[in-house]
Amino acid sequence: MRIDVVSLFPEFIAQCAAFGVVGRAGERGLLSLHGWNPRDHAEGNYRRVDDRPFGGGPGMVMLIDPLRACLRAVRAADPRPARVIYMSPQGRPLDQAKVRELAACERFVLLCGRYEGVDERLLQAEVDEELSIGDYVLSGGELAAAVVVDAVARLQDGALNDAESAVQDSFEDGLLDCPHYTRPVEHELGTVPEVLMSGNHARIARWRRMQSLGRTWLRRPDLVDEAALTPADRALLEE
Ligand code: SAM
Repeated sequence: MRIDVVSLFPEFIAQCAAFGVVGRAGERGLLSLHGWNPRDHAEGNYRRVDDRPFGGGPGMVMLIDPLRACLRAVRAADPRPARVIYMSPQGRPLDQAKVRELAACERFVLLCGRYEGVDERLLQAEVDEELSIGDYVLSGGELAAAVVVDAVARLQDGALNDAESAVQDSFEDGLLDCPHYTRPVEHELGTVPEVLMSGNHARIARWRRMQSLGRTWLRRPDLVDEAALTPADRALLEE
């Protein structure tokens, strides 16, 4: 898949995408990530990309024209249609369902704001949707875009060495993941639960499901309400 990121600091995203699973997805040809700087599409000696807000007040606002020209170049770089997503604290909160949806796209564009944000007219004309990574304000959209790139890259077929691991992650089945343990069995910080070494797959699966249900119930009861619980899950919750 292809992701284009429009940002005043495209190197930032490139750095975030250079390591681990995302880096591997790039190396394996599963993800091609392209950074675009609206400053390269700004006119004049100063290549200005921002100006003061009408109505007064603090900060600067990103100009329409450099962003518009940049998005035009992004579209021209690949014939496939591309949804434009503006990273914004005012957007729909990102969740795993949305990540899955994006991971299935052939191509999309992430637009990163800076300063007070982007001239509203550019957003109205060019943006298909707004996505937020949480109810707090970052100084720029780059970190938010890097979050999307990471979450989407690890879902590309072949990005993870064991595809099963993504399926078992938190939120995939609506619940939080179960706890994990590795060697040594005995440690001054505690002992690995006996069931995990029993070799009894049915018992292990049941224990894991119970742990998932239990921690979701304790930590994120809102998810339990929404998760599609089976009658067996309900019985486990009542134990
Ligand atoms: N004035 C804007 C507001 O209050 O809605 C915030 C502007 S913020 C300082 C600058 C840029 O950071 C935004 O244009 C957006 O691209 C990005 N940003 C900030 N918080 C974000 C969040 N929670 N999720 C996604 N992007 C965010």
